[in-house]
Amino acid sequence: MVSLKLHDTRTRAKEPFEALDAECVRVYTCGPTVYAPQHIGNLRSQLFADLLKRTLLFLGYPVKHVINITDVGHLTDDADAGEDKMEAAAARAGRTAAEIAALYTEQWVRDRERVGCLAPEVLCRATEHIPQQIELVRALERGGFTYRIEDGVYFDTSKFGAYADFARLDLEAQEAGARIGDVEGKRNAADFALWKFPPDGTRRQQEWDSPWGRGFPGWHLECSAMSNEYLGAPFDIHTGGVDHIAVHHTNEVAQSECAFGVHPWVRYWLHGDFLVFDREKMAKSTGNILVLDDLEARGVVPLAYRYFFLQAHYRQQQNFTDEALDAAATGYNRLLVHAARCRDQAAAADPAKLVPWRERFQAALSDDLNAPRAIAVAWDAVRDDALGDPERGALLLEFDAVLGLDLAHAQPKEAATESDPRIDAQLEEREQARKNRDFAAADRIRDELAQQGVTIIDTPEGPRWRRE
Ligand SMILES: [Zn+2]
Repeated sequence: MVSLKLHDTRTRAKEPFEALDAECVRVYTCGPTVYAPQHIGNLRSQLFADLLKRTLLFLGYPVKHVINITDVGHLTDDADAGEDKMEAAAARAGRTAAEIAALYTEQWVRDRERVGCLAPEVLCRATEHIPQQIELVRALERGGFTYRIEDGVYFDTSKFGAYADFARLDLEAQEAGARIGDVEGKRNAADFALWKFPPDGTRRQQEWDSPWGRGFPGWHLECSAMSNEYLGAPFDIHTGGVDHIAVHHTNEVAQSECAFGVHPWVRYWLHGDFLVFDREKMAKSTGNILVLDDLEARGVVPLAYRYFFLQAHYRQQQNFTDEALDAAATGYNRLLVHAARCRDQAAAADPAKLVPWRERFQAALSDDLNAPRAIAVAWDAVRDDALGDPERGALLLEFDAVLGLDLAHAQPKEAATESDPRIDAQLEEREQARKNRDFAAADRIRDELAQQGVTIIDTPEGPRWRRE
């Protein structure tokens, strides 16, 4: 079997994967902060974790996957000062923090499913693991890694000599650039809150008793506490977005290695890069967010977004444009056309003919989860004249265990058969506009047709239309 290699952020190198124990590979993924809708950029980091999980399963490793839901706190900008996002969202909506958290957790779970992500073995909420978080702070306190100031209990990063190693931080520069008025009494710029006290006289919706007084946990704490609860320490793989490396994951490493006495706490760290939108990070703060429902409203099925995701390597930024999404939707539909033709014949495939293709597919994924190459192998199998439809069908079904595109059941969109010279002409005009990159004109024609009840369908043979 081809051996799996994964790019480890800690060592900055592609490393051969070895599971810590044969029973199962233990994987932890940082999940959403559920104070706002989860957009398609957030989904990309879930699709990446799902690609990892499906690849491990495909290669024969049992997996235990834990994902957390941050349903408490999470102050702005990774810092320990500023507005509390959960409390602020609840106040704005005139609802309780728990209601807001439930609403967006449900949306996230549903959207994750719609893009074909396997359910995690454990989905854990920060608010349901307060005792474990308090216990972790107590362990750090016993080890002499904490100090207490008016704002809360803080981790003293100067007590952990390896603090800067994980993200290769320049702590002196950080110290020099420290914002005055960040949090009074902090000993080092990088120190972070483990347990916070609400400001005098304020009463929060989310606060708990602790040995240090009423308050709430710092954001970084939950991932160490909950991963330890369900996976123990050390464990195999931790995933997250690249934006988590310098602060959140650096702090997770510091508190975990000090509390649990292990090094390295996590064997492999995998980080996915951003989805960018006209070269800008998709972020709530810039208002340029799209959710999965927005794509569906444009006539794009959710799994076409998964196909789009698979077209770029997880460690590359992926640029989202309408054109790129439409191209992915067309590509996905074309693949479905082939799958629908071949899949029922899969049982008649010659097993010997499948072996080299399986190896190529495994080799692509084993090279740090190279999904674009894996998709290319699937397309090569579709096009190779040396294969018959039974082999093609069998391969597509087998590859779908990782691709997750529902190639076994999904139906391609039907090409329309109607004809109407006037509508055909409008369609042609729209095609010309698109070729000239005059998308405003193309959209106008599409809207005019929509008003007449005519829907445009992109097919392998070009656009068709259908009356609703
Ligand atoms: Zn985390």
